Amino acid sequence: MKIGFIGLGHMGSAMATNLVKAGHDVTVFNRSAAKRRSLVELGAHEAARVCDACDAEAVITMLADDAALEQVALASDGIVGHLRRGAIHISMSTISVALSERLTQVHAGAGQRFIAAPVFGRPDMAAAAKLFIVAAGEAATIDACRPLFDTLGQRTFAIGAEPRAANLVKLSGNFLLASAIEALGEAIALVGKAGIDRGAFVELLTSTLFNAPAYKTYGNLIAQNKFQPAGFAAPLGHKDIKLTLAAAESLRVPMPLGSLLHDRFLRLLAQGGDDLDWSAIGGLAAQDAGER
Ligand code: NAP
Repeated sequence: MKIGFIGLGHMGSAMATNLVKAGHDVTVFNRSAAKRRSLVELGAHEAARVCDACDAEAVITMLADDAALEQVALASDGIVGHLRRGAIHISMSTISVALSERLTQVHAGAGQRFIAAPVFGRPDMAAAAKLFIVAAGEAATIDACRPLFDTLGQRTFAIGAEPRAANLVKLSGNFLLASAIEALGEAIALVGKAGIDRGAFVELLTSTLFNAPAYKTYGNLIAQNKFQPAGFAAPLGHKDIKLTLAAAESLRVPMPLGSLLHDRFLRLLAQGGDDLDWSAIGGLAAQDAGER
Protein backbone atom coordinates (compact mmCIF):
# COMPACT_ATOMS: atom_id res chain seq x y z
CA MET A 1 0.00 0.00 0.00
CA LYS A 2 1.00 3.61 -0.37
CA ILE A 3 1.38 4.83 3.19
CA GLY A 4 2.31 8.02 5.00
CA PHE A 5 3.86 7.44 8.42
CA ILE A 6 4.05 10.33 10.88
CA GLY A 7 5.94 10.11 14.17
CA LEU A 8 9.26 8.26 14.31
CA GLY A 9 9.80 8.02 18.06
CA HIS A 10 10.60 4.85 19.99
CA MET A 11 7.54 3.07 18.62
CA GLY A 12 7.01 4.73 15.25
CA SER A 13 10.55 4.22 14.00
CA ALA A 14 10.32 0.45 14.62
CA MET A 15 6.84 0.23 13.10
CA ALA A 16 7.72 2.23 9.99
CA THR A 17 10.82 0.07 9.55
CA ASN A 18 8.66 -3.07 9.44
CA LEU A 19 6.32 -1.52 6.87
CA VAL A 20 9.24 -0.59 4.60
CA LYS A 21 10.79 -4.04 4.99
CA ALA A 22 7.46 -5.65 4.08
CA GLY A 23 7.56 -3.81 0.74
CA HIS A 24 5.01 -1.06 1.31
CA ASP A 25 5.56 2.30 -0.36
CA VAL A 26 6.16 4.43 2.76
CA THR A 27 6.67 8.19 3.07
CA VAL A 28 7.84 9.25 6.54
CA PHE A 29 7.56 12.50 8.44
CA ASN A 30 9.02 13.33 11.84
CA ARG A 31 9.18 16.77 13.44
CA SER A 32 12.91 16.35 14.17
CA ALA A 33 14.34 15.67 10.74
CA ALA A 34 17.29 13.61 12.02
CA LYS A 35 14.99 10.71 12.93
CA ARG A 36 13.84 10.39 9.31
CA ARG A 37 17.33 9.48 8.12
CA SER A 38 17.53 5.80 9.00
CA LEU A 39 14.13 5.16 7.42
CA VAL A 40 15.17 6.92 4.23
CA GLU A 41 18.35 4.82 4.13
CA LEU A 42 16.10 1.77 4.34
CA GLY A 43 14.05 2.88 1.32
CA ALA A 44 11.32 5.18 2.66
CA HIS A 45 10.58 8.51 0.99
CA GLU A 46 11.14 11.59 3.12
CA ALA A 47 8.43 14.17 3.70
CA ALA A 48 9.63 17.62 4.72
CA ARG A 49 6.13 18.62 5.84
CA VAL A 50 3.15 16.69 7.19
CA CYS A 51 1.17 17.41 4.03
CA ASP A 52 3.91 15.79 1.92
CA ALA A 53 3.15 12.47 3.65
CA CYS A 54 -0.57 12.69 2.88
CA ASP A 55 -0.61 11.64 -0.79
CA ALA A 56 -1.38 8.07 0.29
CA GLU A 57 -4.09 5.43 0.67
CA ALA A 58 -3.53 5.54 4.42
CA VAL A 59 -1.67 7.79 6.84
CA ILE A 60 -0.53 6.31 10.15
CA THR A 61 0.13 8.58 13.12
CA MET A 62 2.26 7.40 16.08
CA LEU A 63 2.77 10.57 18.10
CA ALA A 64 3.38 11.37 21.74
CA ASP A 65 0.07 12.84 22.84
CA ASP A 66 -3.07 14.81 22.05
CA ALA A 67 -1.19 18.08 21.46
CA ALA A 68 1.10 16.45 18.90
CA LEU A 69 -1.74 14.73 17.06
CA GLU A 70 -3.88 17.89 17.06
CA GLN A 71 -1.00 19.77 15.52
CA VAL A 72 -0.31 17.12 12.89
CA ALA A 73 -3.93 16.44 12.01
CA LEU A 74 -5.62 19.81 12.30
CA ALA A 75 -3.03 22.50 11.46
CA SER A 76 -3.27 24.18 8.06
CA ASP A 77 -0.59 21.90 6.57
CA GLY A 78 -2.05 18.90 8.42
CA ILE A 79 -3.65 15.59 7.54
CA VAL A 80 -7.28 16.69 7.42
CA GLY A 81 -6.47 19.47 4.99
CA HIS A 82 -4.47 17.25 2.63
CA LEU A 83 -5.60 13.63 2.76
CA ARG A 84 -7.67 12.74 -0.28
CA ARG A 85 -11.37 11.83 0.06
CA GLY A 86 -11.84 8.16 0.93
CA ALA A 87 -8.27 7.76 2.20
CA ILE A 88 -7.73 6.53 5.77
CA HIS A 89 -6.15 8.10 8.84
CA ILE A 90 -5.05 5.28 11.20
CA SER A 91 -4.42 6.80 14.63
CA MET A 92 -2.15 4.46 16.60
CA SER A 93 -1.01 6.84 19.38
CA THR A 94 -2.45 6.60 22.88
CA ILE A 95 -4.71 9.65 22.90
CA SER A 96 -7.81 10.87 24.71
CA VAL A 97 -11.29 9.58 24.02
CA ALA A 98 -12.34 13.19 23.42
CA LEU A 99 -9.75 13.81 20.66
CA SER A 100 -10.68 10.52 19.02
CA GLU A 101 -14.33 11.63 18.91
CA ARG A 102 -13.30 14.99 17.47
CA LEU A 103 -11.15 13.43 14.75
CA THR A 104 -13.94 10.99 13.87
CA GLN A 105 -16.21 13.96 13.18
CA VAL A 106 -13.68 16.13 11.40
CA HIS A 107 -12.50 13.35 9.06
CA ALA A 108 -16.08 12.36 8.26
CA GLY A 109 -16.79 15.99 7.43
CA ALA A 110 -13.85 15.99 5.01
CA GLY A 111 -14.99 12.74 3.36
CA GLN A 112 -12.02 10.82 4.78
CA ARG A 113 -12.03 7.59 6.79
CA PHE A 114 -10.72 7.45 10.37
CA ILE A 115 -9.96 4.50 12.62
CA ALA A 116 -8.25 4.26 15.99
CA ALA A 117 -5.74 1.44 16.36
CA PRO A 118 -3.65 1.96 19.51
CA VAL A 119 -1.23 -0.77 20.48
CA PHE A 120 0.00 -2.83 23.42
CA GLY A 121 3.70 -3.72 23.46
CA ARG A 122 6.92 -1.84 24.09
CA PRO A 123 9.51 -0.80 21.45
CA ASP A 124 11.14 -4.25 21.45
CA MET A 125 7.80 -5.80 20.57
CA ALA A 126 7.24 -3.15 17.90
CA ALA A 127 10.62 -4.03 16.37
CA ALA A 128 9.76 -7.74 16.42
CA ALA A 129 6.34 -7.03 14.81
CA LYS A 130 4.69 -8.55 17.89
CA LEU A 131 2.38 -5.71 18.87
CA PHE A 132 -1.22 -6.29 19.93
CA ILE A 133 -3.42 -3.88 18.01
CA VAL A 134 -6.81 -2.69 19.27
CA ALA A 135 -8.76 -1.41 16.28
CA ALA A 136 -12.11 0.36 16.18
CA GLY A 137 -14.03 2.06 13.42
CA GLU A 138 -15.98 1.02 10.34
CA ALA A 139 -15.46 -2.74 9.78
CA ALA A 140 -14.66 -2.36 6.06
CA THR A 141 -12.00 0.22 6.87
CA ILE A 142 -10.42 -2.02 9.49
CA ASP A 143 -10.41 -4.86 6.96
CA ALA A 144 -8.69 -2.61 4.41
CA CYS A 145 -5.95 -1.95 6.98
CA ARG A 146 -5.42 -5.59 7.97
CA PRO A 147 -2.37 -6.11 5.73
CA LEU A 148 -0.71 -3.25 7.60
CA PHE A 149 -1.73 -4.53 11.00
CA ASP A 150 -0.48 -8.01 10.10
CA THR A 151 2.90 -6.46 9.29
CA LEU A 152 3.05 -4.53 12.57
CA GLY A 153 1.65 -6.95 15.09
CA GLN A 154 0.92 -10.50 16.13
CA ARG A 155 -2.82 -10.02 16.58
CA THR A 156 -5.45 -7.38 15.89
CA PHE A 157 -8.60 -7.11 17.99
CA ALA A 158 -11.50 -5.31 16.28
CA ILE A 159 -13.63 -4.04 19.12
CA GLY A 160 -16.31 -1.80 17.69
CA ALA A 161 -17.56 0.68 15.13
CA GLU A 162 -16.75 3.80 17.15
CA PRO A 163 -13.01 4.65 17.06
CA ARG A 164 -13.16 6.05 20.60
CA ALA A 165 -13.81 2.52 21.95
CA ALA A 166 -10.26 1.48 21.02
CA ASN A 167 -8.81 4.49 22.82
CA LEU A 168 -10.77 3.73 25.98
CA VAL A 169 -9.68 0.07 25.89
CA LYS A 170 -6.05 1.11 25.46
CA LEU A 171 -6.22 3.57 28.36
CA SER A 172 -7.90 0.97 30.57
CA GLY A 173 -5.12 -1.48 29.74
CA ASN A 174 -2.44 1.02 30.65
CA PHE A 175 -4.25 1.77 33.91
CA LEU A 176 -4.05 -1.97 34.69
CA LEU A 177 -0.35 -2.08 33.80
CA ALA A 178 0.44 0.94 35.99
CA SER A 179 -1.53 -0.65 38.84
CA ALA A 180 0.54 -3.84 38.46
CA ILE A 181 3.75 -1.77 38.50
CA GLU A 182 2.74 0.01 41.71
CA ALA A 183 1.71 -3.27 43.39
CA LEU A 184 4.95 -4.95 42.32
CA GLY A 185 6.96 -2.00 43.62
CA GLU A 186 5.36 -2.20 47.06
CA ALA A 187 5.77 -5.98 47.38
CA ILE A 188 9.37 -5.88 46.15
CA ALA A 189 10.18 -3.05 48.59
CA LEU A 190 8.77 -5.11 51.45
CA VAL A 191 10.76 -8.28 50.79
CA GLY A 192 13.83 -6.29 49.76
CA LYS A 193 13.98 -4.34 53.03
CA ALA A 194 13.75 -7.63 54.92
CA GLY A 195 16.89 -8.77 53.12
CA ILE A 196 15.20 -11.26 50.79
CA ASP A 197 16.60 -11.48 47.26
CA ARG A 198 14.37 -9.28 45.09
CA GLY A 199 15.16 -11.14 41.86
CA ALA A 200 14.41 -14.51 43.43
CA PHE A 201 11.09 -13.15 44.73
CA VAL A 202 10.07 -12.00 41.24
CA GLU A 203 11.20 -15.29 39.71
CA LEU A 204 9.13 -17.25 42.23
CA LEU A 205 5.95 -15.24 41.71
CA THR A 206 6.17 -14.89 37.94
CA SER A 207 6.82 -18.57 37.37
CA THR A 208 3.83 -19.57 39.52
CA LEU A 209 0.79 -17.40 40.33
CA PHE A 210 1.73 -14.30 38.34
CA ASN A 211 2.91 -15.96 35.16
CA ALA A 212 2.16 -13.06 32.79
CA PRO A 213 4.31 -10.84 30.56
CA ALA A 214 3.44 -7.66 32.45
CA TYR A 215 4.54 -9.02 35.82
CA LYS A 216 7.68 -10.57 34.34
CA THR A 217 8.79 -7.48 32.42
CA TYR A 218 8.09 -4.96 35.14
CA GLY A 219 8.96 -7.22 38.09
CA ASN A 220 12.45 -7.68 36.72
CA LEU A 221 12.94 -3.99 35.92
CA ILE A 222 11.87 -3.04 39.46
CA ALA A 223 13.93 -5.78 41.14
CA GLN A 224 17.00 -4.57 39.24
CA ASN A 225 16.11 -0.89 39.73
CA LYS A 226 16.67 -0.56 35.96
CA PHE A 227 14.63 2.38 34.74
CA GLN A 228 16.92 3.62 31.97
CA PRO A 229 16.90 3.69 29.01
CA ALA A 230 13.19 4.46 28.95
CA GLY A 231 11.21 2.22 26.58
CA PHE A 232 8.04 4.02 27.60
CA ALA A 233 8.91 7.31 29.22
CA ALA A 234 7.40 8.37 32.55
CA PRO A 235 5.77 11.56 31.16
CA LEU A 236 3.83 9.38 28.70
CA GLY A 237 2.68 7.12 31.55
CA HIS A 238 1.58 10.22 33.47
CA LYS A 239 -0.31 11.35 30.36
CA ASP A 240 -2.14 8.02 30.11
CA ILE A 241 -3.29 8.07 33.73
CA LYS A 242 -4.54 11.64 33.26
CA LEU A 243 -6.44 10.56 30.11
CA THR A 244 -7.87 7.54 31.96
CA LEU A 245 -9.10 9.78 34.77
CA ALA A 246 -10.57 12.25 32.26
CA ALA A 247 -12.53 9.43 30.61
CA ALA A 248 -13.58 8.16 34.05
CA GLU A 249 -14.70 11.65 35.01
CA SER A 250 -16.82 12.03 31.90
CA LEU A 251 -18.41 8.58 32.35
CA ARG A 252 -18.72 9.14 36.14
CA VAL A 253 -16.69 6.08 37.08
CA PRO A 254 -14.77 6.49 40.34
CA MET A 255 -11.26 5.05 40.01
CA PRO A 256 -9.50 5.48 43.38
CA LEU A 257 -6.46 3.53 42.22
CA GLY A 258 -6.22 5.80 39.20
CA SER A 259 -6.04 8.83 41.49
CA LEU A 260 -3.29 7.17 43.53
CA LEU A 261 -1.31 6.39 40.37
CA HIS A 262 -1.67 9.98 39.23
CA ASP A 263 -0.03 11.07 42.48
CA ARG A 264 2.76 8.51 42.06
CA PHE A 265 3.59 9.86 38.59
CA LEU A 266 3.47 13.44 39.86
CA ARG A 267 5.95 12.53 42.60
CA LEU A 268 8.27 10.81 40.16
CA LEU A 269 8.23 13.74 37.73
CA ALA A 270 8.54 16.34 40.51
CA GLN A 271 11.76 14.64 41.57
CA GLY A 272 13.30 14.64 38.11
CA GLY A 273 12.00 11.40 36.62
CA ASP A 274 11.29 12.70 33.10
CA ASP A 275 13.96 10.55 31.46
CA LEU A 276 13.07 7.36 33.32
CA ASP A 277 10.87 4.50 32.16
CA TRP A 278 7.31 4.68 33.54
CA SER A 279 8.06 1.57 35.61
CA ALA A 280 10.15 3.88 37.84
CA ILE A 281 6.97 4.52 39.85
CA GLY A 282 7.62 0.94 40.99
CA GLY A 283 10.87 2.15 42.57
CA LEU A 284 9.18 4.75 44.76
CA ALA A 285 8.02 2.31 47.44
CA ALA A 286 11.64 1.30 48.13
CA GLN A 287 12.57 4.99 48.39
CA ASP A 288 9.67 5.58 50.77
CA ALA A 289 11.01 2.69 52.86
CA GLY A 290 14.36 4.44 53.10
CA GLU A 291 16.06 1.82 50.97
CA ARG A 292 17.37 3.74 47.97
P1 NAP B 1 8.35 9.06 21.71
O1 NAP B 1 9.51 8.18 21.52
O2 NAP B 1 8.40 10.13 22.74
O3 NAP B 1 7.98 9.71 20.28
C1 NAP B 1 7.01 10.72 20.22
C2 NAP B 1 6.83 11.18 18.79
O4 NAP B 1 5.89 12.26 18.77
C3 NAP B 1 8.12 11.71 18.13
O5 NAP B 1 8.06 11.39 16.77
C4 NAP B 1 7.97 13.22 18.35
O6 NAP B 1 8.71 13.99 17.42
C5 NAP B 1 6.50 13.38 18.10
N1 NAP B 1 5.97 14.64 18.65
C6 NAP B 1 5.89 15.01 19.94
N2 NAP B 1 5.33 16.23 20.05
C7 NAP B 1 5.08 16.65 18.77
C8 NAP B 1 4.48 17.80 18.22
N3 NAP B 1 4.02 18.79 19.01
N4 NAP B 1 4.36 17.88 16.88
C9 NAP B 1 4.81 16.88 16.09
N5 NAP B 1 5.37 15.74 16.55
C10 NAP B 1 5.49 15.63 17.88
O7 NAP B 1 7.03 8.21 22.07
P2 NAP B 1 6.76 6.64 21.81
O8 NAP B 1 7.26 5.89 22.98
O9 NAP B 1 7.15 6.28 20.43
O10 NAP B 1 5.15 6.64 21.91
C11 NAP B 1 4.33 7.10 20.84
C12 NAP B 1 2.86 6.84 21.20
O11 NAP B 1 2.69 5.41 21.40
C13 NAP B 1 2.43 7.51 22.51
O12 NAP B 1 1.09 7.92 22.39
C14 NAP B 1 2.57 6.40 23.54
O13 NAP B 1 1.72 6.62 24.65
C15 NAP B 1 2.19 5.19 22.71
N6 NAP B 1 2.74 3.89 23.15
C16 NAP B 1 4.05 3.80 23.54
C17 NAP B 1 4.56 2.57 23.94
C18 NAP B 1 5.99 2.41 24.43
O14 NAP B 1 6.31 1.40 25.08
N7 NAP B 1 6.88 3.33 24.13
C19 NAP B 1 3.74 1.42 23.91
C20 NAP B 1 2.44 1.53 23.45
C21 NAP B 1 1.93 2.78 23.08
P3 NAP B 1 10.22 14.46 17.77
O15 NAP B 1 11.08 13.29 17.44
O16 NAP B 1 10.41 15.63 16.90
O17 NAP B 1 10.23 14.81 19.24
